[in-house]
Amino acid sequence: MATWLNGRHKHKPFVLQLVSDLSTVLGELGKYKSAEEFWANEPLITPEFWECYKRMNTKTLRMYPETPWIEPTVYYNEGRVLGARSEQEPPAEEQVLQILDLVRFDRLNNLRRCKLGACKKWYFARFAHQEFCCEKCRTKSQSSAASFKARRREYMREYYRLKKSGKVK
Ligand SMILES: [Zn+2]
Repeated sequence: MATWLNGRHKHKPFVLQLVSDLSTVLGELGKYKSAEEFWANEPLITPEFWECYKRMNTKTLRMYPETPWIEPTVYYNEGRVLGARSEQEPPAEEQVLQILDLVRFDRLNNLRRCKLGACKKWYFARFAHQEFCCEKCRTKSQSSAASFKARRREYMREYYRLKKSGKVK
């Protein structure tokens, strides 16, 4: 999934919109523990949530009709019935179904973008606190933070030197 998102595809903007709508919707749903609690707090739900919710459910996902299907792997490992096979070819079907599986298994949050500005690659996080796509980016970001600190130290040293000499106040 992450690999696909790092490539160029005709339907990528469409898939990215879905990922973005989903993260807004799931972010809000994640604040509550039950449907009762959610509906009790309805007045607090943001208009942005409803906008994403509506686009996702009434437009985007409508394009992926589901047909119940019993298949061995799904039967043993993933809740018995496969609910996603369609005869038509909606945009980026394979990717959208994978995204929905991530939602089913509470793993969408693991699909992230690298925090390193120069990279920003999509990756699938193995740890909850993971922020970078790889060790290389993590080290790079640490060393750039370190060099920022070093520059800042040097600047402060110069500042105090000038202050002492009375050139700045
Ligand atoms: Zn990276």
